Amino acid sequence: MRILVDMDEVMADAIARFIEWYERDFGIKYKEEQLMGTKLAYVVPEQHRQTVLAYPHQPGFFKDLPVIDGAREVLEQLNNRHEIYIASAAMEFKHSLYDKYEWLDEHFPFIHWKRRILCGDKSVLKADVLIDDHDFNLSVFSGRPIMFTASHNIHFTNYERINHWKEALPMFDL
Ligand SMILES: [Mg+2]
Repeated sequence: MRILVDMDEVMADAIARFIEWYERDFGIKYKEEQLMGTKLAYVVPEQHRQTVLAYPHQPGFFKDLPVIDGAREVLEQLNNRHEIYIASAAMEFKHSLYDKYEWLDEHFPFIHWKRRILCGDKSVLKADVLIDDHDFNLSVFSGRPIMFTASHNIHFTNYERINHWKEALPMFDL
């Protein structure tokens, strides 16, 4: 099986970086529980919204992000049995490209560069499965879409889900 795996909020915890930088800039530390069904930019005071939305466009935002719990162990096992491809719409954030590459080398060295797709519009990608946290990627995917649970997507009910990586092994015959 050819399986596409998104990076942010599926492999890498970018929400943690939003929270960290907002606290750095404004002295208020949000908890992820406060972001259920939404994103940080939409819960902060309106005058801070553009600042928060600009964070991922800044150098360093994607550097050394925490790994989502279980991602490394489970993807390594899945990678032994299936074709795992990274599919990240990294072109939106030009400074992210190098940081994402380095991050994959550090945490997912078993994923060869030929299987790293740092792209723009994911709808051109064809595979059997896409694991992603965003409806706008899953809804246009031609294969089997699987929503990886993140705080912002908890209200979507129309997808098969992975809530934690440990649930993924039995879904793919492991
Ligand atoms: Mg994502």
